[in-house]
Amino acid sequence: MSWFADLLGPFRGFAVTARQLRKERVTRKYPAEKRVKPERFHGRHVLNRYADGMEKCIGCELCAGVCPASCIYVRGADNPVDAPVSPGERFGFVYEINMLRCIFCAMCVEACPTEAITMTHLFEMSVTDRDDAIYTKSELLVDPDGTPNHPQPESPLIDLNELRLGDGWMEATSPAGRAEYTDVVAWSPSARKVNQPSESGGDETVDAAREGDTDG
Ligand code: SF4
Ligand code: SF4
Repeated sequence: MSWFADLLGPFRGFAVTARQLRKERVTRKYPAEKRVKPERFHGRHVLNRYADGMEKCIGCELCAGVCPASCIYVRGADNPVDAPVSPGERFGFVYEINMLRCIFCAMCVEACPTEAITMTHLFEMSVTDRDDAIYTKSELLVDPDGTPNHPQPESPLIDLNELRLGDGWMEATSPAGRAEYTDVVAWSPSARKVNQPSESGGDETVDAAREGDTDG
């Protein structure tokens, strides 16, 4: 009978397909119809500037240190005294993210002390060469007028406006970017912790830890 079962095998498969044909489709017509992404969607990163065009990145390498995928490479350099690139002593001289390794966890955003790195809604980053998946500073850093950069042109797959959407982008670049957000405090870290009260018991925990240090 095994030959008979073998004979029926393909027809059983076709029966599964036929049953599915009658069911409502759950897939969408991507990219013609795109889903609206959640406000805190973790897409491609951008490096932001201050309103006066100064770069926010100070080359501290905290983002690289916290990245669980080790996909950020940063090198800081001293700011030229006569033409500083960022406020403070140093700036991000080299900045690279290997998007093939990134898991889009936003830990780099959380760690950044200057809100220099934030994430946008763009995730269409297909490449045919692995080297092209390494985004350099020239691609990550927004222009002085707040315009974000992308290594690939606008296409049915790539909506560059999505680089202007996302957690942290608006306030980070608003004065020189989107006029409607000028002077509107809209920025908050990825976990939306700004303006939230302290967690219950937080102060007591800190106090107890300090007392423990003193006792020790
Ligand atoms: S999103 Fe996560 S994995 Fe990606 S660069 Fe930032 S810290 Fe690394
Ligand atoms: S992006 Fe932020 S955390 Fe990373 S090097 Fe620049 S200032 Fe430091």
